[in-house]
Amino acid sequence: SFTLAIVGRPNVGKSTLFNRLVGRKLALVDDMPGVTRDRRVHDGKLYDLKFSVIDTAGLEEVGSDTLEGRMRAQTEIAIAEADVILFMIDAKAGITPTDVTFGDLVRKSGKPVVLVANKSEARGAEAGMYDAYRLGLGEPCPVSAEHGQGIPDLRDAIVAVLGERAFGPDEDDAEAEERPVVSTSETTLIGDDIEDPDADDIPAYDTGKPLKIAIIGRPNAGKSTLINTMVGEERLLTGPEAGITRDSISVDWEWNGRRIKLFDTAGMRRKSRVQGKLEKLSVSDALHAIRFAEVVIIVFDATIPFEKQDLQLVDLIVREGRAPVIAFNKWDLIENRQEVLADLREKTERLLPQVRGLRAVTISGEMGQGIDKLMESVLLTHEVWNRRVSTGRLNRWLEGVLAHHPPPAVSGRRLKIKYMTQVKTRPPGFIVSCSRPDAMPQSYVRYLINGLRETFQMPGVPIRLSLRTSD
Ligand code: GDP
Repeated sequence: SFTLAIVGRPNVGKSTLFNRLVGRKLALVDDMPGVTRDRRVHDGKLYDLKFSVIDTAGLEEVGSDTLEGRMRAQTEIAIAEADVILFMIDAKAGITPTDVTFGDLVRKSGKPVVLVANKSEARGAEAGMYDAYRLGLGEPCPVSAEHGQGIPDLRDAIVAVLGERAFGPDEDDAEAEERPVVSTSETTLIGDDIEDPDADDIPAYDTGKPLKIAIIGRPNAGKSTLINTMVGEERLLTGPEAGITRDSISVDWEWNGRRIKLFDTAGMRRKSRVQGKLEKLSVSDALHAIRFAEVVIIVFDATIPFEKQDLQLVDLIVREGRAPVIAFNKWDLIENRQEVLADLREKTERLLPQVRGLRAVTISGEMGQGIDKLMESVLLTHEVWNRRVSTGRLNRWLEGVLAHHPPPAVSGRRLKIKYMTQVKTRPPGFIVSCSRPDAMPQSYVRYLINGLRETFQMPGVPIRLSLRTSD
C-alpha cells in the first residue's frame, strides 16, 4: 500500500477528487472557507488500487494567511510523506504562476507525480490541457473529478509512475497465479508458402536491454545447430563427438540491430553428460532456461513432431508465463511440404489450445533457412507479451460484453462483474472484480480470456485472469 497526496491551488477540484478516492463526503469543498481541521489520512481506493490519502485540502485553511503559504505547507507535506503526488490544475482556468511555482517544487523533489488536468469536460479546457505541458510534469491526465470522467486513466497513470509499488507487496504475483486459465485463437503457422501478415510490422517495443531468448527442445531436435547458425560461429559442439563443455551458457548476439542474449540448454546438458549414456531431456535444465528467458523458442524436429515431451515443454513455458514460439526444424528433410504443413497446423491448434494464436515457423537450422522469419515471430511475440491495455479501453469493452453475454446466474443469483484492470504485463495479467469469485464458472472466465485475446490482439502468449471480490 502507498500514500497519495493531492496538491494544487484552491478551487481546482482537489476535494472533489479526494471524495471520489475516499468514497465518503469527508473533505470540505474548497469554496467553503473558514473551517479549520487537522490534517488527516484516509483510506482510499481506485479500482484495484488501495492506498492512504493525505487530506491536503484541509491544509488550505490553516497555517498561513497567504495562498502561497498555504500551498507551501500542503506541498511540503506531500513531498515529505506521499509516495505519489497528484498535482492538480484547472484546465478550464489554465496555468497560473502559482501552478508554475509549485509545479517546480514538486518536480524538483523527484517524487513520482501525476499531472491531473481537472475540469477537462469544460468548454475551452483543451487549451489549458496543452498549456499544462510546460509544467514539465509530463503528460497531463485529463479528468473530470465531478463527473467521474478519466478516472480509469488516472488509475493507469498512477500505476505508470509507481510501477509494482502500486500493488503493494503481497498482491498480484501470488494471486494472479491463483486461477490461471489459458485459452485459444487461430494458430499462426508460417511456412514457406505463407507470408506472415505482420512481418513488415516489426514492433518498436524495445526495453533497451538485450532480449532474452531461451532455446529448448528434445535432444537432437537441433538446438545447438540452430544456435551455431544464428551466432555464425562454431560456439557449440554438435554431432557425434559432442560432449565437450563450454564456459558460458548464454551467448550474446545481435539481430537487425537488436541485442539478444541466447540461452541454450544444450551447452548445459553436455557439461554434465555422462559419456556413453543416451541423451535424455532434462526438465530441470529446460525450466532453468525458461525462467531465464522472456521468449522461448521451442525446437521441434519436423520429421518427428509433437512427441509427448514437446507438448510437456510447451506446457512448462506457458505455466511459467513465458512467451513461446515454435521452430519446426529440419524442414530441409521434408518432401511433401504442403501436406506436412497442413498437418502441423492442425496439430498445433488441436494439441496446444492453451496458447491460441501461437506463432510457429518452419526452419532449417543446418541450412540457415527461416532464421529471419523465426526472429520476426520472436519479436512480435515479445511485443504482445509486454502489451498493456488501458483501464478505460478494458472497461468500455467489458461493458459491451456484459450487455450481450453477462455471467450466468448461480443458485438463483446473478453474478455481477464490476470492472476489470490489467495489473501485469509479461505476460498480460488481469483482475476482474466480481460479486462471487468462487461461483464464477471457468467457462465464463475462458470466454473473457478469449475475448481479451481477440479484441486486444494478444495471440500466442499466456493470459492470466484472476477474480477478486468487489467490496
Ligand atoms: P540438440 O541436441 O537439440 O542440440 O541437436 P543438435 O544441434 O546437436 O542436432 C542433432 C542432429 O540433427 C545433428 O546431427 C544435426 O546435424 C542435425 N540437424 C540439426 N538441425 C538440422 C536441420 O535443420 N536439418 C537437418 N537435416 N539436420 C539437422
